[in-house]
Amino acid sequence: MDDTLGNRNVKLALQREGRLSRNSTELLETVGLEFDSYRQKLFAACRNFDLELLFVRDDDIPEYVADGVADLGIVGRNLVHEYGRPVRELLPLHFGYCSLVVAVPNESPAQTVQDLASTRVATSYPNSARNYFDTLGIPVQIIPISGSVELTPTLGVAQGIVELTATGSTLRLNDLREVATIYTSEAILMANEDSLRDETKRKTIDRLCIRFKAAIDARKFKYVMMNAPRSALEQLETVTPGLKSPTILDLADPNLVAIHAAVEAETFWDVIERLRELGATEILVTPIESMIL
Ligand code: ATP
Ligand code: ZN
Repeated sequence: MDDTLGNRNVKLALQREGRLSRNSTELLETVGLEFDSYRQKLFAACRNFDLELLFVRDDDIPEYVADGVADLGIVGRNLVHEYGRPVRELLPLHFGYCSLVVAVPNESPAQTVQDLASTRVATSYPNSARNYFDTLGIPVQIIPISGSVELTPTLGVAQGIVELTATGSTLRLNDLREVATIYTSEAILMANEDSLRDETKRKTIDRLCIRFKAAIDARKFKYVMMNAPRSALEQLETVTPGLKSPTILDLADPNLVAIHAAVEAETFWDVIERLRELGATEILVTPIESMIL
């Protein structure tokens, strides 16, 4: 494959430096793509896939994808809501979770968003904030701010803010409390509508989606291998139903069997505890890299 830049059919824009960068490049590497990602570089061609990467500011990605500068983008869904550009969401990527919330200083008399009527609200999400308050019919003055929104109440610029938060710790640190959630968000893979109609690009995009989905599904499971008493087999199978059914292997000792199964990562520790109670030993657990169902 010709390695020179500009020779790839499909272009994917991702955040150059920020909260989504590491997870985005890790996902690309997990699905087997090889590329150089130097901080100072704006472009990188994948050596083993018909894909070129554009490393840019996340705020520019919805526009680039809508305009066709990039065919694909990895970005927080919050930016799609905020900029309202016509792009197609292809896949949620299960990272970059956050919420856009309305918050007020701890000592504020406001208990609900209605109490913010006729006040000033500072935000770097002016469109999302305006839509939200307009839909509820609450008249507020939106003050667009590009950074450090959480300081604006202390500075007397606003009585409330609309800001992104993941754990709420930045809000708490600044003596702010949440009064409402406007929307929740996560990173998504999105596409330009025309690129999806182009047959050659579509094939590459579909191949990439299948790989992404396999990597994302795999993270929901862990692969568990164990030895167990044959007598407990029936009960053990109900604890580890696996995807369809677990693999049971005979061992040299006729009283024992080896069981291999995929277990949901979320319930994983509960399952392990129940397995141990049922007599399972030598329990080995490994992550799954891809899962093609
Ligand atoms: P850039 O320089 O690329 O414009 P940025 O400072 O605007 O970066 P980041 O703070 O890196 O952006 O956030 C990128 C995305 O990460 C957000 O748009 C959002 O989707 C997601 N995100 C996850 N958790 C948080 C959080 N606690 N605060 C802000 N964004 C978060
Ligand atoms: Zn940004």
